[in-house]
Amino acid sequence: MSYETVIGLEAHVELKTQSKLWCGCATTFGAAPNSLTCPVCLGLPGSLPVLNKKAVELAVIAGLALNCAIATCCQFDRKQYFYPDLPKGYQISQFYQPLGRNGWMEVAFPAGRHRIGITEIHLEEEAGRTYHFASEQSQPAYSLLDYNRSGLPLLEIVTAPEVRSPEEARKLMEALKTLLEDLEITDGKMEEGSFRCDANLSVHRPGEALGKRVELKNLNSFRALEAALAFEARRQEGLLTKGKPLAREEARTWNETKGNTVFMRYKEQAADYRYFPDPDLPPLTIEEQWVGNLRACLPELPETRRQRYLGTYGLPAEDASLLSKSKPGATFFEAVLRFYPGEARTVSNWILGDLARLMKEAKSGFNELRFSPKDLAALLTFVDQNLISGKIAKIVLAVMFQTGKQPAAIIQD
Ligand code: ADP
Ligand code: MG
Ligand code: ZN
Repeated sequence: MSYETVIGLEAHVELKTQSKLWCGCATTFGAAPNSLTCPVCLGLPGSLPVLNKKAVELAVIAGLALNCAIATCCQFDRKQYFYPDLPKGYQISQFYQPLGRNGWMEVAFPAGRHRIGITEIHLEEEAGRTYHFASEQSQPAYSLLDYNRSGLPLLEIVTAPEVRSPEEARKLMEALKTLLEDLEITDGKMEEGSFRCDANLSVHRPGEALGKRVELKNLNSFRALEAALAFEARRQEGLLTKGKPLAREEARTWNETKGNTVFMRYKEQAADYRYFPDPDLPPLTIEEQWVGNLRACLPELPETRRQRYLGTYGLPAEDASLLSKSKPGATFFEAVLRFYPGEARTVSNWILGDLARLMKEAKSGFNELRFSPKDLAALLTFVDQNLISGKIAKIVLAVMFQTGKQPAAIIQD
């Protein structure tokens, strides 16, 4: 019996602002616990939030890059729940009128390029951070709270349930992270929690209705995302095979050490949160002209760049896709072309072949290269002039990579 897997993702992206969403506290990561707090982000009674315009700007830029319709008027709603890291007793979020809707993102999947729908994007605030400590000898278990993170601006990006495999889910999140980093909307540091996601998965038999979904939490890396989804798909298939499909939606957490997912709780429904418009924040009018200006200032996006690489440079589809997806790689490629009179395809072959292998082995990126685009152009020109063979050029490139020396000097040596 074969099953179909359906996945929808919710990315949480910390926006790269200087100050928090509702107050002037700094957003620096790793400061002394509770040093970056004030009555507003501590949720003290009587304090009032004031919206950070820069956060809205970054969210709108993300919305435009994700092809969303940007709301002309939106509002902030209170999502009520109790947890010690949320001292107000509610999180300010957007429920009724999110900032953006009906977008899409094009991603290169193993099965080909695909458009995945972006259902909505909305702005919300981060909660504080809880650290749990287990009991030890005479010391009982305890928890510590750090409110430095409380009130940081967070963008939630919700995809439609259109992803079909754990691998596609990883590819989509990788492409989203790269896009938002290139736009300088987020620093994308997963290890610091500034880019994270929840993943929803259900399975069903072909031709039947979608199954009930499980929401997976605690996915701290792309590897964890893919592994957790793969485990969860097999688990749900097992349940279906036994004739015991999920009766209720649940939230489960990924256990990295055991490599399994563990039941946390049944999912709350929207009604449980008693959403209502936050009376402390007036509705937000987003002027179309302001959005128009932001749109006009958008840098070239990966999809446009890919088209250009196919058209202007005549790159093979796979090369165009790989080179256009991130800014550092694209910038390097185009810089080499400025100094190299030969074929663009030769440059892409070297970058995606030998250079990519060297960078992978050294676990480094384009920003850490010791030689310049001009040096690579010189090397390839030597090959074209038959001064050195392609085989020698590979050796020279490896030395350039290690030492940063000029190709002419290496060949001389
Ligand atoms: P929640 O309240 O759980 O955060 P959201 O609407 O924010 O709800 O997110 C729902 C997510 O679940 C979306 O990414 C959506 O694509 C996904 N989803 C919805 N139904 C299914 C399903 N049957 N199987 C898999 N994913 C689903
Ligand atoms: Mg959600
Ligand atoms: Zn504050």
